[in-house]
Amino acid sequence: MIRRRRPRLESPAALSIAAVAVGLAFGGCDRGDSTSPRHGSIFERTRPSDLKVLLIGIDGATFDVADPLLKAGNMPTLARLIERGSYARLRSENPMLSPAIWTTIATGMPRRLHQIHDFLSRGRGDAAHPVLTSTADRKTLAIWNLVGPFAKSVGVIGWWVTWPAEPVRGFVVSDRVAHSRWQSWTAGPTDRNLTYPESLIDEIKTLVVDPMKPPMDEIGALADWTESERKEMLAARHPIPFHGPSVLKFGYCEQSTYENVALRLLPKGQPDLSLVFLIATDPISHTFWHYFQPAAFRAGVDADAARRLGRVIPGMYEHNDRYLSALLSAVDPKTVVIIVSDHGFQPSGKLPSETTSIDYREVGIERTESLGRPVNVGMTGIHHLDGFFAASGGPIRKGAVPTTQPTVLDVTPTILALMGLPVARDMPGRVLTELIEPEFLAKHPVTYIDSYEDYIDRAAISQAAQGDESQRLEYLKSLGYIGESTTQPGMLE
Ligand SMILES: [Zn+2]
Repeated sequence: MIRRRRPRLESPAALSIAAVAVGLAFGGCDRGDSTSPRHGSIFERTRPSDLKVLLIGIDGATFDVADPLLKAGNMPTLARLIERGSYARLRSENPMLSPAIWTTIATGMPRRLHQIHDFLSRGRGDAAHPVLTSTADRKTLAIWNLVGPFAKSVGVIGWWVTWPAEPVRGFVVSDRVAHSRWQSWTAGPTDRNLTYPESLIDEIKTLVVDPMKPPMDEIGALADWTESERKEMLAARHPIPFHGPSVLKFGYCEQSTYENVALRLLPKGQPDLSLVFLIATDPISHTFWHYFQPAAFRAGVDADAARRLGRVIPGMYEHNDRYLSALLSAVDPKTVVIIVSDHGFQPSGKLPSETTSIDYREVGIERTESLGRPVNVGMTGIHHLDGFFAASGGPIRKGAVPTTQPTVLDVTPTILALMGLPVARDMPGRVLTELIEPEFLAKHPVTYIDSYEDYIDRAAISQAAQGDESQRLEYLKSLGYIGESTTQPGMLE
């Protein structure tokens, strides 16, 4: 019988070792604590809640698209969540570049501190051979680094800027497991440190959806495509910047990969905190908005094309709703579910134009390539500062309305408070306490520390992430996640 490797998230051995060793590993840098560093560290004193939290990121989701679908009954799962919980437009920040904002959401830190500014890394690579931003560029801790020392497990699936995968108490499936637009544009993925544990890639690689073999039955169902549009989509070997059919194909396959991974991994042992990232709404909102909202384009959109392709964007929202339903039935029903987007969308007013060459300068790369055939490219949808926020389940109050508009900086502090973990004063956001039942807050009052950077060594995590498996194991040992006698990570059996 083949013994399958799977993440073991609640290993009692790992937990008891952690309880003893975490104090030793962190006590020395437990600055600002008046108690004995070995027996009074925040990790030992904190009494976490027993809530499970699932954070779902949907790139570019907006109530401007969702509202009419909710009213029409076309997003029943989201409608139920909202009905039982709370929702708001989530305030984003300029410039609205996805890697920066998703990192702000997951760190609670502004980008001047976390230093993830763009898709491409500053200071590494050059204009002709740029390097994608990676965890090596991130200068602050992310929420998946914070929960482990409190003996809380975490699973991260497809989140922006998670490669190389950092060692965590749980697992990371990095954003370079799937074939993404950005990997294609910048000369491809790497095959190391795609996941943590490294061996997890062996279990999930069959779940990767190949854009050269796209699920055309599903993508086809999003709209009423002409035969030539189908051919154009199938023929695209690379995602062409702002070319609807090709970015839809790549975006859909990328999202499907992480959808599959989450449905495989979460039911096997749901981590205390899970992050699942869905990308496809962003590339299609950039390229199909003129069909969705033709009245916003003065030059006029072909009425037949708008009738046929105007369903692509709402169709993807409905797809996401069906996926949400599948995901929710795979997790503990008491899970607190939080859904966020990094920004919304609005029409650009500019229609696509025909081209026979790909101009990569639009995505920050000094390169042009001949296509040999004319295609239409253009950004007809552009980012809007109002993103998406919904929270439901556990102690989230039904119908609660935020007292001020929540921002992307509030997500991490709110999750920490729900998990009963200290919130750091160097996080500029706030805990959205008005959304949480007072009984829960009485039992788990929000506690504060100055900074997690005082307790957890960011540089050591970054170094371990880029290193080989033995360096990652050393880091995990230093956290007390695994004992000296263990040769494998505690999360594997
Ligand atoms: Zn975008």
